[in-house]
Amino acid sequence: MPAANPGIPDPAANAVDSLPTADFFGFESLLSERERLKLQELREFLAAEIAPFATEWWNNAEFPAHILPKLAALELSAPAQRGYSHLFAGLVIAEITRVDTSIATFFLVHHDLFVESLYGFGSDEQKSRLLDDAANLRTTGAFALTEPEHGSDVAGGMETRARRVSGSTGAADGGDVWVLNGAKRWIGNGTFCDYMLVWARDEADGAIRGFIVDATLPGVGRSRIENKIALRTVQNADIVFRDVRVAEADRFAGIGSFEDTNELLRGSRIMVAWQAVGQQLAAFDVARQHAVERQQFGRPLAKFQLIQQQLVTMLGNAVASMGMMVRIAQLQQEGKADMAQVALAKSYTSARMRETVAMGRSILGGNGIVSDFRMAKIFADAEAIYTYEGSFEINTLIVGRAVTGVSAIV
Ligand SMILES: Cc1cc2nc3c(=O)[nH]c(=O)nc-3n(C[C@H](O)[C@H](O)[C@H](O)COP(=O)(O)OP(=O)(O)OC[C@H]3O[C@@H](n4cnc5c(N)ncnc54)[C@H](O)[C@@H]3O)c2cc1C
Repeated sequence: MPAANPGIPDPAANAVDSLPTADFFGFESLLSERERLKLQELREFLAAEIAPFATEWWNNAEFPAHILPKLAALELSAPAQRGYSHLFAGLVIAEITRVDTSIATFFLVHHDLFVESLYGFGSDEQKSRLLDDAANLRTTGAFALTEPEHGSDVAGGMETRARRVSGSTGAADGGDVWVLNGAKRWIGNGTFCDYMLVWARDEADGAIRGFIVDATLPGVGRSRIENKIALRTVQNADIVFRDVRVAEADRFAGIGSFEDTNELLRGSRIMVAWQAVGQQLAAFDVARQHAVERQQFGRPLAKFQLIQQQLVTMLGNAVASMGMMVRIAQLQQEGKADMAQVALAKSYTSARMRETVAMGRSILGGNGIVSDFRMAKIFADAEAIYTYEGSFEINTLIVGRAVTGVSAIV
């Protein structure tokens, strides 16, 4: 296990402990007692098992699979099934992101895309076969939608094909199967996952269908995307499907169109907006600590008005983003958060995040471009949040369409 880098200040033990936290308006107090205790348990886990090692994992682009049993023991999967609120679920993602964005992204892809899809769209048989292992991280999942040639326009442009073949083929599996052909790109957890949810166009009617694909099936090829500047701990993959035979029993019967996929993405997009909150909390934590401790001109950086102004802007951005997400959580609780509201939340929080992490990076000066001091990693990871789950531009245009009645997307 790699040791924490010596000489780097420990963010948990510092002079700023007695100062107000970045949750300046105390949104956390809206949680129930049970939820607050669970969040505290999560914080202790993150401080002990993730924070000391996260930079090393990121530098080496290695995923720490050994943490999965301890992560599972926190029992945070499928929060609604466990009686937790949407606000709690969001604060969990923000809190993990605050310590390490890559681990939060692993968590989000596995739990909010793979496991939640099983809950939402899986058949009873699929649930009883797959859910227990997945919810307890004995198996891991991925969500394969984006393609090499289709990112923002994947709904209309999807090229991966599914062809149903009848029982008359004489194949060893009886022929009651779908044959998948195509390619996916950027698939988080894609190099090591046991299962992936693959979206493909039905050759017969053009509809988008979802399949639970065992990643070890013949014809599945996966290769790691190298040399990333963001989320280096996340293992993103290019995946190809060459005549992959998937049983009809592994098709998501609940998915009949891309609208159903959108339903899933609305939930995970909310979680990505919570990541933008967590990213800002992290940037504020690190920048404030640095400003209080670093001396220039014989006094702490924090004594300079321009530094205070930047810290307060960062705090304002974080609190405004959090306030917006708390309202989204309330709307979710009432079953009312629509796609345009969610798109505004994602575009607004990710724009504020970009400004916040840039200021934080500036406050650290030269050390702000070295991952050892945390801020460079926070700064770089923000770029992935800005782009995935609908880029800033696409989410902005979804809101633009809603408020003008005119689409500027195509
Ligand atoms: C780290 C990471 C992890 C990811 N994980 C997954 C995953 O697990 N599963 C998965 O399926 N996908 C995943 N993705 C893919 C992600 O969802 C896409 O990157 C995203 O949808 C953007 O697609 P693209 O990268 O192909 O960019 P493009 O669609 O090529 O867009 C390029 C630029 O053009 C802009 N643009 C495109 N169309 C318009 C328009 N009409 N008007 C204005 N601007 C436009 C975009 O906003 C962007 O700035 C991941 C991506 C990253 C970076």
